[in-house]
Order: sequence, then structure tokens, then C-alpha cells
Amino acid sequence: MKKYKRAGRIASEVRKGVRTLVKPGTPIIDICEKVEKSIIRKGGQLAFPCNVCVNEVAAHYSSPPQDKRTIPNDAIVKIDIGVHVDGYIADTATTVNLKPEYDGMVFAIEKTLEQVIKAIQPNVQTRWLGETAKKTIEQYGFKPIWNLTGHQMKRYALHAGKSIPSVPRFAMSRLKAGEVFAVEPFLTLSAGSGEVRGLTEAYILRYHRSKSPRHPKARELLDVIEKAYRYLPFSRRWLKGVLPPQELDQAFKDLLSNKSVSAYPVLVEKNKQAVAQAEHTLIVTETGCVVTTS
Ligand code: MN
Ligand code: MN
Repeated sequence: MKKYKRAGRIASEVRKGVRTLVKPGTPIIDICEKVEKSIIRKGGQLAFPCNVCVNEVAAHYSSPPQDKRTIPNDAIVKIDIGVHVDGYIADTATTVNLKPEYDGMVFAIEKTLEQVIKAIQPNVQTRWLGETAKKTIEQYGFKPIWNLTGHQMKRYALHAGKSIPSVPRFAMSRLKAGEVFAVEPFLTLSAGSGEVRGLTEAYILRYHRSKSPRHPKARELLDVIEKAYRYLPFSRRWLKGVLPPQELDQAFKDLLSNKSVSAYPVLVEKNKQAVAQAEHTLIVTETGCVVTTS
């Protein structure tokens, strides 16, 4: 509990501080690196690479090494932050909006997160939480994204077991006291499809299995990954010191093709409509829940 709360406090401080960095023209890689450095400086560890997702990109964009992308004008930007303390994770996200026309999306997604959190208590059905999210999102004239969900977390496990959808779908399960969840509704404009799809680009990776690649450079990279990032997602950026850029690229290709590592593809709204997200981590208690990232 203490470590969950410490991770939560760090994540929340970093989330609040990052908002002023998001301006047109800011290099996305600067935001990622500042967020990650500030987590470490505060005594936390990185639970996953800082995600910076612009407009129709909903999730899983984190700068690759030498990223040249910047925050465009009139962007709606999701910043998703992951901190752990000894494996106990805090996962939190906020939407920074630079286009007044989209203010309603941010208001609605924050209300939705609030409503879902209010509905959390032991034994509540995940289906009911999905119902609550959908109803709130639609009340404000937007559309929930059905194939992105909140998730249970355990020590060193970011996605562990139960999901919390933003629509009343998926198998019925119930929350239990003592369980930890990240709740993260996503919404899009009514012109959106309410669904995300994966691109071929993927900058966030995770260790999958120890299968020796043929190429010795790939083996070298896998050794580092196995030591440092066996349990939680990592960025290609974090490994840029291991090999020169071209060898590193090839080594990652080898590891992906022999399935030693797997990738999280960048997820975009199917109709390329803007997306908003809000996320908190919470611990279910006997009477409700404690939000660790508020
Ligand atoms: Mn998150
Ligand atoms: Mn999450």
C-alpha cells in the first residue's frame, strides 16, 4: 500500500507538471525525456515509456531515438505516465488540449473518469462500470472507444487479468477489495468510429521469451533487455547506448521476428477523429476505493 501510494504521488506530480510543456512546436522527444527524468529524480522507476499521443493517435506513441516530431498547432494531446516503486505501479494520464473547439471532449472524459471511480466498490461488475462510462460519454455528445480498456495491475504486471471497458461489453467480472486497477476511458467525436486500430509503427516493446537469436548483436541486446526490462514495457530510446543506431535497428528486427520481444503498435482512431483520455490508478477498498494518482 505504501509503495503504491508513493508511486501514485510521483506519477501525479509529474502529470501536473507536464501540462506546461505541451505547446505547439515542442519536440515530442523532449516531453518524453523530461517526464522520464523527472520520475527518476523523484525516486520512482519507469513502469513504461512516457506516451505522447496527438489528435487521432489514442495510445502507444512514445518517441523513438532521434524523433523529429513536434506538437502541432491546435493539437489535442494525451500524456500517459507510468511509475513503479519496487514493482508497485501507478498509471495515470491526462489530455492537454490546444484547440478550444475540443474543450468539451476534455471536460467529458474527466467527468467520465470521475463517474466510473464513484461507481467503484467491492463486487461491482465491470459491465456496470462500462455502462456508466458509455452513458456519461454519450450524455456529452461523444462516442466511447470500445476496444481500449482499463486494466487490473499487480506487482510488476501492467495488464493483469480483469479489464474495465468504456462500454458494457466483455465477460462479466467483479472487482474485489484489495485489487488494483487503472481506469482509463477514451472518447472520440461523434464522427469517429469508436474503435482504434494498430499501425505498423511500434516504439514501445516488451520482453516476451528467451529464444536465442542467430545474430550475436541481437543476443547482446536481448541480454540487456532480460536484465533491465524483463517485466515491464520499454522504449527503443532506452537502449540506444547498447549498439550503434543501424545495428540497433537490425537487432530489434531480429528480436521481433524471433518473438523474443513483442511490440505495442501505435493505436489510432479508425476514422482519424480526435481522441481524449483520462486515467487514474486506484485500490479497491471495503467501502469504495482509494485513488493513488489524484
Ligand atoms: Mn496509462
Ligand atoms: Mn493504463
